Amino acid sequence: MRYWLQVVVATPAHSAIAGPLTYRSESLLSPGTLVRVPLGKREVLGVVWEVLPDSGELPEAKTRDIAGVLEGLAPLSATWRKLVTFTAGYYQRSLGEVALAALPPQLRELSALQLARRMKRPVVDTSRPQDATDLIALSPQQTMALAEFDAETLGARRPALLFGATGSGKTEVYLRAAARVLAQDPSAQVLVMVPEINLTPQLQARFEARFAHLGKERVVALHSGLTPAQRLKSWLAAHAGQARLVLGTRMAVLASLPNLRLLVVDEEHDPSYKQQEGARYSARDLAVYRARLETATGEPCRVLLGSATPSLESWQATITGRYQRLNMADRIGSAGATGLPTVRRVDMNHQPKHCVIAPPLLAAIAQRVARGEQSLIFLNRRGYAPVLACHDCGWKSECPHCSAFRVFHKIDRTLRCHHCGFTERVPRACPNCGNIDIAPVGRGTERLEEHLAELLAGVQRPDGSAVRITRIDADTTRLKGALESQLASVHAGEVDVLVGTQMIAKGHDFRHITLVAAINPDGALFSSDFRAPERLFSLLMQAGGRAGRDARRSAASEMWVQTFHPEHPLFEALKRHDYPAFADQQLAERQAAGLSPFGFSALIRAEAKTQEVAQGFLNAAALAAQTLQLAGHAHVTPYPAVPMTIQRVANIERAQMLVESPSRVALQGFLAAWQPVLFETRRQAEFKSLVRWAIDVDPIAI
Ligand code: ADP
Ligand code: ZN
Ligand code: ZN
Repeated sequence: MRYWLQVVVATPAHSAIAGPLTYRSESLLSPGTLVRVPLGKREVLGVVWEVLPDSGELPEAKTRDIAGVLEGLAPLSATWRKLVTFTAGYYQRSLGEVALAALPPQLRELSALQLARRMKRPVVDTSRPQDATDLIALSPQQTMALAEFDAETLGARRPALLFGATGSGKTEVYLRAAARVLAQDPSAQVLVMVPEINLTPQLQARFEARFAHLGKERVVALHSGLTPAQRLKSWLAAHAGQARLVLGTRMAVLASLPNLRLLVVDEEHDPSYKQQEGARYSARDLAVYRARLETATGEPCRVLLGSATPSLESWQATITGRYQRLNMADRIGSAGATGLPTVRRVDMNHQPKHCVIAPPLLAAIAQRVARGEQSLIFLNRRGYAPVLACHDCGWKSECPHCSAFRVFHKIDRTLRCHHCGFTERVPRACPNCGNIDIAPVGRGTERLEEHLAELLAGVQRPDGSAVRITRIDADTTRLKGALESQLASVHAGEVDVLVGTQMIAKGHDFRHITLVAAINPDGALFSSDFRAPERLFSLLMQAGGRAGRDARRSAASEMWVQTFHPEHPLFEALKRHDYPAFADQQLAERQAAGLSPFGFSALIRAEAKTQEVAQGFLNAAALAAQTLQLAGHAHVTPYPAVPMTIQRVANIERAQMLVESPSRVALQGFLAAWQPVLFETRRQAEFKSLVRWAIDVDPIAI
């Protein structure tokens, strides 16, 4: 007998072969089987997508045999294949690219023998009953949230959004919800997603401890920080059903989990859930889709999203009733009040000129130091100064390869481009006019740290010793383990003033911080990106959420915001910790403008040696789409191509075209029909020099 198999292999969307390839097999393999197949001169990993009946019509001579089967691995489930099919279709990429990117890279290199050895390792059941005394008593709000979540599990099983203040104990709710699912069914699996796992080593330890009773290796992590071997191990454990709980980042949403019953998406608003290259999927949106898909094809599966500042998309869904909303407004142990820090706006119009830290804020920080409490000073810009300039001739530290300035890093006296990486020693004198008086303009965390050290030099800790200032950002944490040890020293109380970027503003359960200050958040208020206010609001709420997490100190905790626009509604809402009011106002604006979640959009990006070619390509493809009257076109508006905000990176010019529609279906139809046109346009002689193009569906930054 022989069988014809449709096999998907890793082909980039932009190569001509985007669909499954046909191979021949002597044995009947079920869909989802992992195989090795010849491709050109190579042998690659593939997934059997379909088995075709032998109609005798196939061009047998050209069809090659599969090279082998990955023995010992169960086929990937039909649900997983449907999820991949949906992802590829929705985000306009090839099936093979999405399918293979979801598999651990090491799977490709494993020999049959190695694989067999791995799979044969027996799984010993080391589980034991859970000790109920391990558990803390739930707060009334946690109890209520869980009860409502459970009640819905019997009914419509809508996605749930846990709208819980920072420090309200959302993690405990995830843990309990997961525990119930795992206890109900001894094979059930739970996926818990977090934005960036390495930022929260705390969390993994908490999950491992809580589910230690399930036995060895039942809780696994899945993220890009793992070694290829670790990642393979986690993936195999999930695929084989041995792993009961997977804690992962966005990539985990496409993991093979044959008995998935619950997906948790922590900090669901976080931009890092959106993949920014290849298939630009939103892991949050896919989690919602996956829960529905799992339920439709088998056992009920639910999704629980959580945030103190939900994405406006999810929030709107709770308003229309598509999602269930669970509320936890108060912090743990806050006894009546919300327990959230008092927000103080500092009107920078009334502060001494050019002051970086307003005198009242400085006094407040000094006071904390004297009391032995910690302060967190937040500035979302690393390096010493964003620009180095000559005041004689106007020279600025532009990057020769990008339309951006190189950042001055004082520690190694370099000018570094944060876009292309181009680095040079700081020149001794102005390269343009020879003036030796070149000076930093503006400030980043490195300079802020230095400045604070000067300002606080005379301030003493309760025991009379000197103030200890530390900085945490991408520069100080480059080495492996650096972030963990720096965070540990903050937790241990070895730091009085912590300076840093958004890296420290999110997620951490700091216990001794009673003051958080945002030094210069105004930039985002007037951005051209309609999502900028949403991002700023959530970042500030998250940052504020680091203050007063210990109930004994929460009453005196403060969040300071230095701004030239203290009356701005965003800061008004922040002052009242009023996310719903902020959301209302933003949603009203978006509705009027037909923006997400009331409208849908995609960005087509193009890169070339010149703007002319990049924009020309996009405009030509749009014109062709119009001429051809593609599916959905009547409800779709493509805008003229424009340069991207940072229009040149590493000597490549970048342009983008926004495509909008009030209908998701129309937009999807249009994009699918447009893809071949884009490929066709790219082949034209005048666009030969195009470097690449890509579609970003539901973009999160414009
Ligand atoms: P969130 O994720 O909502 O910001 P966390 O889950 O980190 O909040 O909880 C904040 C703190 O409160 C943590 O230190 C956690 O251990 C503690 N906590 C959570 N639930 C309870 C509870 N029911 N009783 C006592 N402490 C709790
Ligand atoms: Zn000069
Ligand atoms: Zn550069």
